[in-house]
Amino acid sequence: MAVDQPFPPGTRRAPRPTEVLPCAACGELAGRGYPTCRPCTEFADRLWLVDWQALLAAEQVGAEGADERRLAEQVLAGEVGRYPWTCTDWAMSLVRCPACGAELGTGVMSCLRCRIADEARWAWDHAGRPVRMTGNEHALRVARTVLRAPHRQRETIVHGWRLALPFLLIGESPRAEQARRIRAYVLAKRYEELAECHSLAEMARLPGVPWRTGGPDGR
Ligand SMILES: [Zn+2]
Ligand SMILES: [Zn+2]
Repeated sequence: MAVDQPFPPGTRRAPRPTEVLPCAACGELAGRGYPTCRPCTEFADRLWLVDWQALLAAEQVGAEGADERRLAEQVLAGEVGRYPWTCTDWAMSLVRCPACGAELGTGVMSCLRCRIADEARWAWDHAGRPVRMTGNEHALRVARTVLRAPHRQRETIVHGWRLALPFLLIGESPRAEQARRIRAYVLAKRYEELAECHSLAEMARLPGVPWRTGGPDGR
């Protein structure tokens, strides 16, 4: 386990799927049912879980017990870049917020502890990109964070990340131009049409974009 070097990367242990396929349980593209559809959730979380399991093994800690929770707290108390960002995320999902009782970082917007925890995690991305973390990995992290706490975001933001997740899981990232176009379609409430597409490029090519140029993105 490469915890002896700063900023050990995340999601690079498990091979990525090579194509986007429908989830047998919910019928959506695999990952899009996150986190309510169990197979979708396991499909996406697998990338995080293998990193966490490697850390458990390195620290000789068993899964699902008080020791695992202690390790989670140790990870969250550690300096930025000591552990893979995936382990920070996994640790947050194992720890309850002492103030509101929700999974740490996912509570109501008024919970200060959750806000601090949620904001603190992004320090890894600021320092670790682009070498220790790719754009795709950052996008995956944002997608999982948004979908685990959708009440903390605008609905259109949640829709955008839900649509993108299956493609992020196979390693794709939208180019800036594609992201802008897809966002415009989401704002135009064309989720159903977007959900039918089989690639990010196809989503960005839908006809009749209510085109927006420059300025605030109006999300
Ligand atoms: Zn599913
Ligand atoms: Zn909280």
